[in-house]
Amino acid sequence: MTHSFDYDLIAIGGGSGGIATCNRAGLYGARTMVIESDPVLGGTCVNRGCVPKKAMWYGASMAHALRDAPAYGFDVTVNGFSWEALVEKREKYISNINNAYASYLGKNNVQIVHGYARLLDANTVEVNGEKHSAERIILAPGGYARVPELPGKELAITSDGFFELKQQPKKVLVLGAGYIAVELAGMLQAMGSDVTLGIRHENFLRDFDLMLQEKLMEEMQSDGVTMAKKFSAARLDKVNGLIDVTGESGEVLAGFDSVILAIGRSPATDNLGLDKAGVTTDARGYIPVDKFQQTNVPSIFAIGDVTGQAELTPVAIAAGRRLADRIYDGQEGRHLNYDLIPTAVFSHPPMGTVGLTEVQAREAHGDAVKIYEASFTAMYNAFTEHKSKTSLKLICVGDEEKVVGIHMIGLAVDEMLQGFAVAMRMGACKRDLDDTIAVHPTSSEELVTLR
Ligand code: FAD
Ligand code: NDP
Repeated sequence: MTHSFDYDLIAIGGGSGGIATCNRAGLYGARTMVIESDPVLGGTCVNRGCVPKKAMWYGASMAHALRDAPAYGFDVTVNGFSWEALVEKREKYISNINNAYASYLGKNNVQIVHGYARLLDANTVEVNGEKHSAERIILAPGGYARVPELPGKELAITSDGFFELKQQPKKVLVLGAGYIAVELAGMLQAMGSDVTLGIRHENFLRDFDLMLQEKLMEEMQSDGVTMAKKFSAARLDKVNGLIDVTGESGEVLAGFDSVILAIGRSPATDNLGLDKAGVTTDARGYIPVDKFQQTNVPSIFAIGDVTGQAELTPVAIAAGRRLADRIYDGQEGRHLNYDLIPTAVFSHPPMGTVGLTEVQAREAHGDAVKIYEASFTAMYNAFTEHKSKTSLKLICVGDEEKVVGIHMIGLAVDEMLQGFAVAMRMGACKRDLDDTIAVHPTSSEELVTLR
C-alpha cells in the first residue's frame, strides 16, 4: 500500500493527551509520531503537575500522621524532615515514568521526536528543521502558568518553580484561589512552612459548591494557614534579601523567602503556527473544537488543556483515546461526554466533587432540588487532638430524587469519589444509595445513609 502522507497521525505534545492518543492509535496499527519539546515525555502532569504534587501531598499527609500518632499511643520523636530526600525520591519516580512512557510508545510503534513543533499547513509539521506530513494532526501542547504584569514579578515563582525548589521555603506567600493555590498552601503548611494565602475575594475555589469553599477555609485556618483575604497584589520588592508584596490598597505582606503565583494557566498556542494552517482560537487563545475534538480545519484536532475544557489529565487522556477509537478502530460516533467529570482537590483535607453545585442545581431546577447534608467527625479524628470535620452534600432533583451533584471534604474523600461518580453516570437516584448496604465503619457509609 502506498501512503500519500509520512504518517497517519502526528501529535504535537507528548503529555497526557498526545501520548494517550498516539498509543491507542498505534495499538490499532496507525503510523503515528509524537513530538515533545521537553527532553522527557509525560508533559505537565508527570513532570510538573499531578505526579510531583501528589508525592508532596503524601509527604504532607505523613507530617499530619506523625502529628496525630500520639493519639494512637505512639511515643514519636521526629528528628527532622528532609525536603531534599523527598524531592530526590520524587524525581527518581518521575524519571521511571518518563522511561516507561518511552517504552510503551515504542511497543505501539509510535515514533518519538524531541523538539519544538510548528504547523506549516493543514497536514505538515516542522520540527528540528525537518518537515513531516500526516493525514491528521493532533494539537496537544497543554498550557503554562500565567504570570501577571506586576513590577517585581520575576521575584516570584509559579508551580513549575515550586517543583524546582531545592530547599523548603520557611515563609511563603501563595497568591491565587484555585486548585494549585490551595494544594500548595496546604502541603507547605503541613510540612512546617509558615504559609500565607493571598486571595482576591472572601473565598477561594469560587466555582466549587459553597459548602466546600467554607469548610476548606475553616480547615486551612485551623491548620495554621494565614488568610490574606481581599488581597490583590500590586508589586513585589526585595527587602533585606526577602520579598515584600504590596497590595492594590497599599497593605504590605512582608518577609517571604518564597512567593508562589497560582493564578491560572494559559494555552500554549502562541508559536504553534496555527495561522499557517488556518486554525482559529478564541479570545483567550484556546482552540475551540466540536464534540469529536475537531478544530475548524478538518484534518486538525485538539485535545487537553489547550481546548480550555476541564483541564484535568484523565479528561485529556479520555478525549484522545476516544478519538483514536473512532478514527482507527471504526467505533463510529465515539467521543468524550464532558458532563459529570469527577475531580479531587488535594488540599488538606482533600475534597471530591462531581456534578452540579447547589447554586447551579437551583438555577437549573428551582424548587425541584433537594439537598441532603452531613457533617461529622470521622472516627480517625475522634481520637486525635487536632480535630477535623468531614462534610458531605448530596444534591438531588425531582420526585425520583436523581442525584445531580456530590460534594465532599474530609479524610479519604478523594478515594471515595470514583465509585460514586460511576453511580451518578449510571443515573443513580437517592433510593439507589439508600438501598446500598453501607460499608462499616467508614466515612463513605454516611453517603448511603443520609436523611
Ligand atoms: P500537557 O500535559 O501539558 O502536555 C503538553 C506537552 O506539549 C508538554 O510536555 C509540552 O512541553 C509540549 N509542547 C507544548 N508545545 C509544544 C510544541 N510546539 N512542540 C512540541 N511539544 C510541545 N490534573 C489532574 O487530573 N489531577 C491533578 O492532580 C492535577 N494536578 C496538577 C498540578 C499542577 C501543579 C498542574 C500545573 C496541573 C495539574 N493537573 C492535574 C492538570 C494536568 O496536569 C493537565 O490537565 C494535563 O497535563 C493536560 O494534558 P495535556 O496533554 O493537555 O497537556
Ligand atoms: P484555577 O483556574 O483553578 O484558579 C485560578 C484562580 O486564581 C482563579 O479562579 C482566580 O480566582 C484567581 N486569580 C486569577 N487571576 C488572579 C490574579 N491576578 N491575582 C490573584 N488571583 C487570581 O487555576 P490553577 O492555576 O490553580 O490551576 C489550573 C488548572 O489546573 C485547574 O483549573 C485544574 O483544572 C488543573 N489542576 C487540577 C488539579 C487537580 O485535579 N487536583 C490540581 C492542580 C491543577 P478568584 O477569581 O477567586 O480570585
